[in-house]
Amino acid sequence: MKIIYSPHHTQHNTKTELSGGELVAPYECASRMDYVCQALQEYGLGKTTEPLEFPRCHVEKIHDKDYLSFLDNCWQQWQATGMSGEAIPTIWPSRSMPSNHIPRNIEGQIGYYALAGETAIAKNTAQAAWLSANIALTAAHSLVQGEHSAFALARPPGHHASKNQYGGYCFINNAAVAAQYLLDNGFQRVALMDVDFHHGNGTQDIFYERNDVFFSSIHGDPLDAFPHFLGHADETGIGAGVGYNLNHPLPQGTPYAIWSEKLEQSLNAFRNYGADVLVVSLGLDTYEHDPISFFKVKTDEYVNMGTTLAGLDIPTVFIMEGGYAVEKLGHNTANVLQGFLNV
Ligand SMILES: [Zn+2]
Repeated sequence: MKIIYSPHHTQHNTKTELSGGELVAPYECASRMDYVCQALQEYGLGKTTEPLEFPRCHVEKIHDKDYLSFLDNCWQQWQATGMSGEAIPTIWPSRSMPSNHIPRNIEGQIGYYALAGETAIAKNTAQAAWLSANIALTAAHSLVQGEHSAFALARPPGHHASKNQYGGYCFINNAAVAAQYLLDNGFQRVALMDVDFHHGNGTQDIFYERNDVFFSSIHGDPLDAFPHFLGHADETGIGAGVGYNLNHPLPQGTPYAIWSEKLEQSLNAFRNYGADVLVVSLGLDTYEHDPISFFKVKTDEYVNMGTTLAGLDIPTVFIMEGGYAVEKLGHNTANVLQGFLNV
């Protein structure tokens, strides 16, 4: 399995996250990658390869140009106004003032482009997001070149980022960028399986009206879990996309036995669809001891998750998403990959 990684993800090294009414150290932190790298080595899953650099047009097919320009310039503008802390939103175009005018002021702009308030932007956050997208593109490119599987070990993650909004630690939707690249380079029908604990609202938003990417997600019921406002079972796509969006919201305490039934349902839907390539949004925050989630998947059960995904028997690219029980993140990740490879 090709594993794509760059140590330069540490450029994104924010100090604050708004959580529980306090500014705390971010759950999505650089040390997550150290644990995964260590486990990949322990398991003998292969050496990591540095990413290639792709032109911006691949990301511009997924995200609006004005949004990307905001990301590129946010930190500089925030600093220019004399703000002392990291850039976080404080006001939104909410239900009672749904304006489409984009504010000139950076505080207003951040509210316009943020879908949630926990995620800070700091120096080089944008650079790290672009690097993360290049890692996903390099992994997807290896499938185009004939590899059967690849793993994009990337952060910041991507699946909460929509066409024109960031949040939930995500800025550029790496899985969506990879899916589009695969479609542009010979594949016809992408199955996009999001196994992160949180609903992949950004990915759903991006492909909701399309029938060339079938998106499915198994996640904490949004009535009880972030991102709260998307991810219900009755969201099945619109227009050409009707029937190509399959959500499985599940309750608190869901064990792997129930979770895996939903995975089988999604994989069967992908088989009926005739998917010729699989993109996995690989979040490991379904883990029983994850600090911000509420499923009960055990470390050993991730092996079966990988084996089950391999049952689809099509080229597969794994894109790293969440997982915040950092000391177990490496083993949980490596177990999925080992289960996938040992079929
Ligand atoms: Zn998550």
